Amino acid sequence: CGIVGYVGSQSALDVVTAGLKRLEYRGYDSAGVAVLADGGLATAKRAGKLVNLDKELAERPLPTGTTGIGHTRWATHGGPTDANAHPHLDNAGRVAVVHNGIIENFAALRAELAERGHDLVSETDTEVVAHLLAEEFSSCADLAEAMRLVCRRLEGAFTLVAVHADAPDVVVGARRNSPLVVGVGQGEAFLASDVAAFIAHTRSAIELGQDQVVELRRDAVTVTGFDGSPADVRSYHVDWDASA
Ligand code: GLU
Repeated sequence: CGIVGYVGSQSALDVVTAGLKRLEYRGYDSAGVAVLADGGLATAKRAGKLVNLDKELAERPLPTGTTGIGHTRWATHGGPTDANAHPHLDNAGRVAVVHNGIIENFAALRAELAERGHDLVSETDTEVVAHLLAEEFSSCADLAEAMRLVCRRLEGAFTLVAVHADAPDVVVGARRNSPLVVGVGQGEAFLASDVAAFIAHTRSAIELGQDQVVELRRDAVTVTGFDGSPADVRSYHVDWDASA
């Protein structure tokens, strides 16, 4: 239901959890985060309110990293359990993905992945994306390209945001029939389903168009179509009251 992504020099966990709190008003049944740190990927997720995730993070702190993603879930496929909460990972635990919306053709993709030996552990439509991204990344070593290749195979409405432990300082996002906004800061960048998640940090925003993929680095934001064509970027200034 809510998505936040961050790359920069602040603690990604702090930025992402604060952003998720700004999105709480949308309603949700579970929450989770993933942070790139020490060459790996660290995640925490819990059914229920953000306070449950906070408790989990207090009991099992994540290593500090400056690239991360977070999610509040409104379950459509699979009940609101810890296992179905996002982020979802590939079997090697190197890719993390969060998703708003519905992947309509997930059952066929799941069957295909199972045939290739992937072990899917949740009941969500989302998890297939983590596995497909891992496969594509292993041949192209470019997370934005992997995301474009995967998106071309997906049907439905989705906002997707992902990180890969072998792509440090990169967050990628994609959207079709579901919102995703980029926030551009000084040496940092944000992704969210709603500008409310990042206006405490920057008022400079880019609205992603339909069927586009964005690659976020500390000092570069690159937008392309699902087919890889360069996209026109529409920047704007968010001028509504941050305290609203
Ligand atoms: N369809 C996904 C799920 O059930 C995403 C739901 C959402 O938009 O939060 O996990």
